Amino acid sequence: MPEILRPRVLVIGGGPGGYVAAIRAGQLGLDTVLVDAERPGGTCVLRGCIPSKALIHAAGKFADIAGAAGDNPLGFAIPGPPRLDFARTVAWKDGIVDRLSAGVTGLLARAKVRVVTGWARFTDAKSCTVETAAGPVAITAEHVILATGSEAVALSDLPFGGKVISSSEALSLPELPRRLVVVGAGYIGLELGIALRKLGAAVTIVEAAQRILPRYDDALTRPVRRWLQRAGVTLHLGAKIGGLDGEERLMVETASGPLPLEADKILVTVGRRPLTNGWGLEAMGLDMEGPFVRIDDQCKTAMRGVWAIGDLAGEPMLAHKGFAQGAMVAEIIAGQRRHFDPAAVAAIVFTEPEIVVAGMLPDDAAAAGIAAATAVFPFAANGRALTLEAGGDGGFVRIVSRRDDQRILGIQAVGRQVAELAGEFAHALAMGTVLDDLAHTVHVHPTLGEAAGEAALLGLGHALHL
Ligand code: FAD
Ligand code: FAD
Repeated sequence: MPEILRPRVLVIGGGPGGYVAAIRAGQLGLDTVLVDAERPGGTCVLRGCIPSKALIHAAGKFADIAGAAGDNPLGFAIPGPPRLDFARTVAWKDGIVDRLSAGVTGLLARAKVRVVTGWARFTDAKSCTVETAAGPVAITAEHVILATGSEAVALSDLPFGGKVISSSEALSLPELPRRLVVVGAGYIGLELGIALRKLGAAVTIVEAAQRILPRYDDALTRPVRRWLQRAGVTLHLGAKIGGLDGEERLMVETASGPLPLEADKILVTVGRRPLTNGWGLEAMGLDMEGPFVRIDDQCKTAMRGVWAIGDLAGEPMLAHKGFAQGAMVAEIIAGQRRHFDPAAVAAIVFTEPEIVVAGMLPDDAAAAGIAAATAVFPFAANGRALTLEAGGDGGFVRIVSRRDDQRILGIQAVGRQVAELAGEFAHALAMGTVLDDLAHTVHVHPTLGEAAGEAALLGLGHALHL
């Protein structure tokens, strides 16, 4: 006989969406069970946001030290190039992952959430069976929150296996590949490709579109392209991927003809798709929207009492969107009136340099038929950027605002260490800020954030430091 559980709330998936939904439900006194096949944390903690940012940090530090080995303007002298113990770097990264996963486990316990470890399969919208190490557990709940997340998209000509790897394997390589080919210059491929280049791999990037990060405009991505060039990364744009030839070389169709690429590892990062297979979604009677489960502005699906959040429920597939939706759904189940209608879900690309995007790009405003003005303040004119050796990378803060009432529609930045500006940008948009508000916020000196205030002043026609 399987063990039978009848909680008020059942959460499937312990990633950012699911674990936050479960913690909040527990905090609100709802009897809650969370199911995940793995330890808590999901893609984000176990093989996404956190391990990638750890590797990126380590790679940046290594590159800085390596850069100090030769002649350098800061006047450092070190005896020679640093040596890399890559296994130790990966172990350090694993330590952070372990700590955060354990932290999530602790938070779930404190909120009195019962965690069931195993794969869930639904037989109808409210009932599933989980195969656990101790035998099957049958769970029926009043409310089901689906947060199954997403998986890497594979190319049919280049399936994962052998030297062809996804981001998950790239984050736990046993050794640094000597030659790495990255297929797909989206944010994941660029972040990991750049990190591995900094650690010493020879990197080639192959992208089908005519631009890296094709969702973003040329101006915003140009500093990253310049870095790739300076760092000796080979970039093939507008290139079509074939399969591996008999000698395990990657066949690429470029503008100048077919090109075989030698590689020790081929990292395929051509996008992610929601995980909708293998757990009985078809038995639940939900509506779909493209590859995603269709939801309304409260994350309700077509089935009463079944909710979907995070990567399963649409773009943008980002952790903080899952956090926000998870907490909201728990609060709605507990009786609160909530809607998911953020002014913007900001995004960061942790490349070299970093890119932050909040709200509308200039092209988005044009496409929406809004008469908008764009003001760009360069980091070359920002004191803090210069002290961080960041003034020369072509970075800037850009504000897109309505011409009629000067309301800010979008703020973007590209430059070294700009990631932390995302909070100010998101907050400005959430508050419905106009140029005047941002221009007259007294920004601390010397900080990169001053460039946001200056960009707003520039929008008003009178920047002070330009
Ligand atoms: P997930 O985190 O994917 O979690 C889903 C969980 O559900 C998994 O643990 C899975 O095992 C479990 N599960 C699924 N089905 C079942 C089932 N039937 N039974 C039991 N368990 C099940 N986002 C950012 O915001 N910032 C970043 O810097 C960032 N970097 C990233 C870097 C990489 C390399 C990758 C791959 C992703 C990155 N992301 C980043 C995206 C981020 O990881 C996802 O948006 C986020 O994890 C989605 O959360 P989720 O809760 O929807 O699902
Ligand atoms: P993507 O970012 O989708 O990039 C994949 C790249 O691979 C693309 O450049 C594509 O042209 C290329 N490619 C595809 N097939 C091939 C091939 N056969 N050969 C060569 N190249 C190929 N979602 C939205 O809906 N709107 C947004 O504006 C948006 N912005 C985002 C911004 C950021 C900073 C982040 C982190 C995510 C954003 N997302 C957005 C969500 C994003 O689509 C998903 O998280 C996920 O698909 C990104 O994973 P990826 O880097 O592997 O793929």
